[in-house]
Amino acid sequence: MESISRRTHTCGQLRPDHAGATVTLHGWVDSIRDKGGVMFLILRDRYGMVQVTLDERCGDGAWTDAKAARLEYVLEVEGAVHKRADSAINSKMETGSIEVLAERVRILSTTKPLPFTINSDKIASEEVRLNYRYLDLRRPPLQRALMTRHKAALSTRTYMDAHGFCEVETPILNRSTPEGARDYLVPSRVHPGHWYALPQSPQIFKQLLMVSGMDRYFQIVKCFRDEDLRADRQPEFTQIDVEMSFCTRDLIVEIANGLVRQVWSDVIGVAVGDIPTITYHESMDRFGRDAPDMRFGMEHTTLDWSGTDFRVIASAVEQGGIVKAMVVKDAVEGTSRKVIDGWTEFVKRYRLGGLLWGKVTADGWTGPLSKVEESYREMIPDVEVGDVVLVAAGPAAHVHAGLGKLRETIARQRDLIPADAFAFVWVVDFPAFEQDEETGHWTAMHHPFTKPLDEHIGWLGTDKMGDILSDAYDLCCNGYEIGGGSIRIFDSEVQAKVFSALGLSDEEAQDKFGFLMDALQYGAPPHGGLAMGFDRWCMLLCGTENIRDVIAFPKTTTAQDLMAGAPNLVDSAQLEELFVRNTND
Ligand code: ASP
Repeated sequence: MESISRRTHTCGQLRPDHAGATVTLHGWVDSIRDKGGVMFLILRDRYGMVQVTLDERCGDGAWTDAKAARLEYVLEVEGAVHKRADSAINSKMETGSIEVLAERVRILSTTKPLPFTINSDKIASEEVRLNYRYLDLRRPPLQRALMTRHKAALSTRTYMDAHGFCEVETPILNRSTPEGARDYLVPSRVHPGHWYALPQSPQIFKQLLMVSGMDRYFQIVKCFRDEDLRADRQPEFTQIDVEMSFCTRDLIVEIANGLVRQVWSDVIGVAVGDIPTITYHESMDRFGRDAPDMRFGMEHTTLDWSGTDFRVIASAVEQGGIVKAMVVKDAVEGTSRKVIDGWTEFVKRYRLGGLLWGKVTADGWTGPLSKVEESYREMIPDVEVGDVVLVAAGPAAHVHAGLGKLRETIARQRDLIPADAFAFVWVVDFPAFEQDEETGHWTAMHHPFTKPLDEHIGWLGTDKMGDILSDAYDLCCNGYEIGGGSIRIFDSEVQAKVFSALGLSDEEAQDKFGFLMDALQYGAPPHGGLAMGFDRWCMLLCGTENIRDVIAFPKTTTAQDLMAGAPNLVDSAQLEELFVRNTND
């Protein structure tokens, strides 16, 4: 086989200025139109597509292999660039004003029958595409996603470097880190019975780097969490991990806002304006979620309906529940009983008994809410003729979740979400701890190194545990949590108090985090940080809701790599070497 010629241009590169040049291109055949004496081949590479034309002017050197070419064959094409006649310009292709008249076409590689057509608008099932991910990745939208990801990483590194952050790698084979998820474990061959944990985050190491005086650290880093997967989650994911010394929350927010602005501008040319801040409690109150989607209204109102005679509400309130309303503007038309029944079924998934609804017409209210005293109905702000009002009552957690998710569902159904909008928001002052409903145990809502607000530290271990707020903050965009962090405890005594309030004995704390507790006693600076979900950033930058679209080789929702066949069974010899026995054997 003769060796290939050197490529002179990529398939996306040629413009009218190149007219007259002789070029050598390499690429895949994206489409073929063979009209007998004239043939058009669209050649594709990562940079774009170009039309290769063959007609009566082309000699055998061009025709023989061109005739034999099929979709997805790899070709080498040599030819001359010609401007197209105005009538033949294809404005949908960046190279659409030129074509390459082939002088020589050579097939470099052929293909077996394809499992799916690469250039089709009808996309094959995700399962087939993941099985042949290397073919799926030939599709331009996925190639663009990977390039977007690359640009976002580059922009991040440039920005962080310009702000004095030093990228430091931290270990992958590690001890368990306390992010609250299940660990992926790796058995040690040289230490029988001992296991490494893959990092859920570099949390402890980045704090240790502050004790070391590194001052400003960042890392674009893979982390691993063995959790139930969702559309926006993967078992291994990438974070932009950040830690800095001598900082307050304001400084971290300022640095992070700058990073968001830089990346959004560099990668997609979007100017991100001011990013507002709301407290966790306000977020739950107004949106029912701690990662609110602020691209549209339909905010919730908490109602004091404690004196109502309306039975369902009165009994929910008596049992300590809350009452919240949401107004769907201008919705009387088109909101049938069936639609409302659908909404009611939807909130039941969040353990709400149901929804009370009312339609506000020129003749007054209809529906169950019409039976609620008028003075109570008047407490719902912003109600006009034409609106549909929804009210939920019950335990706060259920009302927030049900109505919060319903708000987003209705916004989608009614097309209330502006396209291409990015609504960023910081959510701050999270409760420090949450209590397990069944066991009564307290766990850290962020992680146990998060500093409680100074004025709440005295409440550690008392019956006010649930009221303690922490200096933790999340960055959200369009309803996704896309970053989060906290100011850390840098006083080993406070750290010990937190561990004990979480029910960790001194020995357990020492065993799990002893090296951090020790380090905090050797001149630890005040510090704080955060981690940004890089995959979710890329999802937003690419305008997709599927995290797998922005990861080259993602896992399925059951944590499998269908193409490589991971996870897989290993032979018993390998297990033996690692001192692991399969309990099914
Ligand atoms: N380690 C935290 C996380 O991965 C972020 C942080 O507190 O910096 O969520």
